[in-house]
Amino acid sequence: SGRRLMPGPVGRGGSPARPIEPAAIIERVVVLGAGVMGAQIAALAANAGLHVDLLDLADDGDPAARARVGIEGLTTLRPPPLFLDELASQIHPGSFDDVEVLAGADWIIEAVVEDLDVKRQLLERVTPHLSAAALISSNTSGLSIASLAEACDEDVRRRFLGVHFFNPPRYMKLVEVIPGALTDAGVTAFLSAFAAQRLGKGVVVCRDTPNFIANRLGVFAIADAVQRMSQQGLTVEEADAVTGPALGRPRSATLRLCDLVGLDTLLHVAATSRVPPPDAVQALVDDGRLGAKTGAGFYRKTAAGIEAVDLQTLAYRPLQTVDTGLRTRGALADRLNDVWEATDRLGTFSREHLAATLAYCARCAGEIADGLEDIDRAMCWGFNWEAGPFELIDLIGAGRVRDAIADSGEDVPPLLDRILAAEPARVYVEPGATVLAPTGVERRPLRLAATPTDEEWLAGGEMMLDAEGMRLVYLGEGAAAIELRGKLNTLPPEVLRHVQEAVDKEAFDVLALTGAGGHFSAGADLKYVMQLIDAADWQGLEAYLVLFQETTSAVRYASVPIVAAARGLALGGGCELCLTSAARVVGGELRMGLVETKVGVIPGAGGCKEMVRRFGADIETAFRTLQRGAMSDNGLQARSWGFVEDADPVYLDEERLLSPALARARELVDGGWQPPVAGALDVAGPTVLAGIEEGLSRSASEGDLSAHDVVVGRALAGVLCGAGETAPQSEARLLELEREAFLTLCGTPETRARMEHMLRTGKPLRN
Ligand code: NAD
Repeated sequence: SGRRLMPGPVGRGGSPARPIEPAAIIERVVVLGAGVMGAQIAALAANAGLHVDLLDLADDGDPAARARVGIEGLTTLRPPPLFLDELASQIHPGSFDDVEVLAGADWIIEAVVEDLDVKRQLLERVTPHLSAAALISSNTSGLSIASLAEACDEDVRRRFLGVHFFNPPRYMKLVEVIPGALTDAGVTAFLSAFAAQRLGKGVVVCRDTPNFIANRLGVFAIADAVQRMSQQGLTVEEADAVTGPALGRPRSATLRLCDLVGLDTLLHVAATSRVPPPDAVQALVDDGRLGAKTGAGFYRKTAAGIEAVDLQTLAYRPLQTVDTGLRTRGALADRLNDVWEATDRLGTFSREHLAATLAYCARCAGEIADGLEDIDRAMCWGFNWEAGPFELIDLIGAGRVRDAIADSGEDVPPLLDRILAAEPARVYVEPGATVLAPTGVERRPLRLAATPTDEEWLAGGEMMLDAEGMRLVYLGEGAAAIELRGKLNTLPPEVLRHVQEAVDKEAFDVLALTGAGGHFSAGADLKYVMQLIDAADWQGLEAYLVLFQETTSAVRYASVPIVAAARGLALGGGCELCLTSAARVVGGELRMGLVETKVGVIPGAGGCKEMVRRFGADIETAFRTLQRGAMSDNGLQARSWGFVEDADPVYLDEERLLSPALARARELVDGGWQPPVAGALDVAGPTVLAGIEEGLSRSASEGDLSAHDVVVGRALAGVLCGAGETAPQSEARLLELEREAFLTLCGTPETRARMEHMLRTGKPLRN
């Protein structure tokens, strides 16, 4: 049933009964091949709370040695593939000979070398041992799924397909799913839903054509830019300057990306896509320069700094700065307009390159995908483009794209003519609800996932309160959500007042608290605080603190359980709103922290008080986390620091946290939840406080802390230890201590300097 497809929370769920239908639940994942991808896919599965076995070729003596090496490598790789190093112990090493492990698998992911014969032999070897319910996929980057399927008997072919992760799999959103001719439609749908809901991936279903969608088009774009650059005599820096943010692509642009991917890999993908290999890449590969992995490619890093290759001599020289005259920020439509109107050498290069790329995409579309939106999503999720090729055509204007293609002497692809013949002449019709088919001119609704995202759900709800910086939306059946909005959803006074107003309505059974735009909230309005400091308006500052504390208290003592659905940034005051909620449901990539010391203050909206509640006499652990202003790398780390509780689930599908948050709130109600009663909290007392203060002085004398770090640290320690009292302290008293310390610190020039620096540069000042 549909419900069983819903993923369980990380690290929980127990062991379900064996499914009757093909893998109705996936709990045991077996990854074949412990190389770059295999080990990292195993890490992703471990992050998702799955049972993982990682198998590789058996070495003499120690059959699991290769897998063990792969697992060990996970803790040193950057960015880290694992949420916590400890999770490495949840990945069980073994060899392809472990037939029992294979027999117990719900999903087998093949990730050995990209070699058809090797993969086929391995499939022939392992598939006879699989259970009748097991699903099996290949992580091939571009081999034909049909020819891999030939290595499986007919029954296995129904459960075999391509599931292509991108590197690094924890961070790259895209997963391409490629059904074979005999793959059961239910299996494709199930694994797509699983990859999305349990692993948090963006799934695009592809046709079984060489290199599928993203690599096929992405490598064309790279090869075209590199070849064009050589022909027109652009430098490496010039080519990167005009093929990055100016076209809505990442800063790695073209040649930096080549170095990252590996120039040999690029040649391989180009060859299988029948894209001519760019001469410059070939020349570097012939010389053994493969990019980052060999330390040199189009760029290399030396002690003197980064150098770029001179394409005439293949020698390296210092980086040159480039002025393209093109905008690299602001609305994408404006940047593209610059490119389309440019008449100089670099702008013309950029336009001709993009026109050729869009022409190629339009020509391939019908062959590689069922829908143009699939192609757009693949390029955004797989290559981090801001907009996919068909969104770009709409942004530039199909007519202008056609003219640019015609000007370059190329044939205009039939699809572009069809777009121009449509009324209006666009791929997507505002408000983005319908899309043109890759063949034909009929439009159909955009394909949306079966379960709505939080954004879609909120958009369909009933607006109860629509204010600047927040809204309250009724979602039916007694459930509502408060959504924080605006730039990183910061919390100026008006927003806090509205949140209180929403909580005080008491018109719902359950309430979720969430944030728009992929973040919960970056916290207090620092600009506002700075203004008050500069005006020496201490009363105003105290009033803001009181208002903030009243708001977090309103959340904590609300008559119905408020569950925070937190993803992205949940910092400072944002974190405090999460801490005071009845429970939390959080995203895998959660960046949570009480980071106030970074701007020279301490948590002043109940954050210290909540840490006292959670840590009591053990406050030193919390002190260390808060003192360094630590921000979590992920949800499990936030849990290990005490911000997220053991009962708070962590979900990798960050776009769908509202439903589990409201379900959690209902669970609390059903379990007889009552609003908490304010009471006195145990504090660590004078001895612990003295110990912390001594530690601060020691760190300062050893040069690890600045004088102001000590001032802030002492203020923090004072509040966390209840001002050194031995008796339990009331919540009101702890909140008062927070306010006092906060205000005192705001009076120091060093704290002001920290705030000013953070606002100006986005980075902490170490003063
Ligand atoms: P890798 O070279 O790092 O690892 C390959 C693995 O295959 C190793 O564990 C090795 O022990 C095993 N192996 C080697 N010879 C074998 C044999 N004869 N029989 C069985 N196993 C053997 O490769 P990788 O980069 O992890 O790529 C694995 C797969 O993932 C490939 O299909 C590749 O195309 C695909 N892929 C790679 C990337 C990437 O960026 N590296 C991205 C997406 C997909």
